[in-house]
Amino acid sequence: MSDQIRIQLSENLRSVHERMAAACQRAGRTTETVTLIAVTKYARIEWVRELVDLGLTDLGESRPQQLVQRARELSPDIRWHMIGHLQRNKADDVISVAQMIHSVDSLRLFEQLVKSAKSRPLPPRILLEVNVSGEASKDGFDRADLISLWPQMRDCDALPISGLMTMAPLTEDTTAVRNTFRRLRELRDQLRDESAGRLSLEDLSMGMSGDFEIAIEEGATMIRIGSSLFEGLSDE
Ligand SMILES: *Cc1c(COP(=O)(O)O)cnc(C)c1O
Repeated sequence: MSDQIRIQLSENLRSVHERMAAACQRAGRTTETVTLIAVTKYARIEWVRELVDLGLTDLGESRPQQLVQRARELSPDIRWHMIGHLQRNKADDVISVAQMIHSVDSLRLFEQLVKSAKSRPLPPRILLEVNVSGEASKDGFDRADLISLWPQMRDCDALPISGLMTMAPLTEDTTAVRNTFRRLRELRDQLRDESAGRLSLEDLSMGMSGDFEIAIEEGATMIRIGSSLFEGLSDE
């Protein structure tokens, strides 16, 4: 690890923390209410180690295989977040290492996770991914489908659902981005009301490098940041 890489990573991290703090201040929130998840899917393992040395505790991966492999290689104190599409045949592997699964996008996957979770003393936290913007290319529950499926999911004691996740459309139109995040929060409020006080659904996973400040202003409790943390580093 060259000093240059270390310096670049710590500057990137400082800059993300500053932007988070400013967004929290605008929203009248304290910084502890937002967790930074470093998305390491394109990062070399040396860089990830360095980020952990710099104090990051929450890491996200989008591919099950890389998540499982890195969870074995890196410190057991890291909290691993599965943020990408998960096939049911990988549920057992992922559930054995992930503290949180953000990308539950179908009832069948949820039911598989309920089965897989029985073998674990402490089940992971489960977030349902919602395709708020309705883009054909996106994974996630359609909003109306989720509302109608909710009675089948909300009462599962073996695997309580802790919140929702979404991705905003890739656009310069910040109003559209803000609306996506706001609608996720409103959907969360609605589902919470329809769970008769059983679930608090406190987790809102929304916001990436290009839009996390807007997400924080709209109530994100977890932001998933990749490129802003690794910019200026070359993969040579
Ligand atoms: C890659 C990825 C991110 C991070 O995106 P950046 O724009 O690099 O910050 C966040 N969430 C998901 C689901 C991702 O796949």
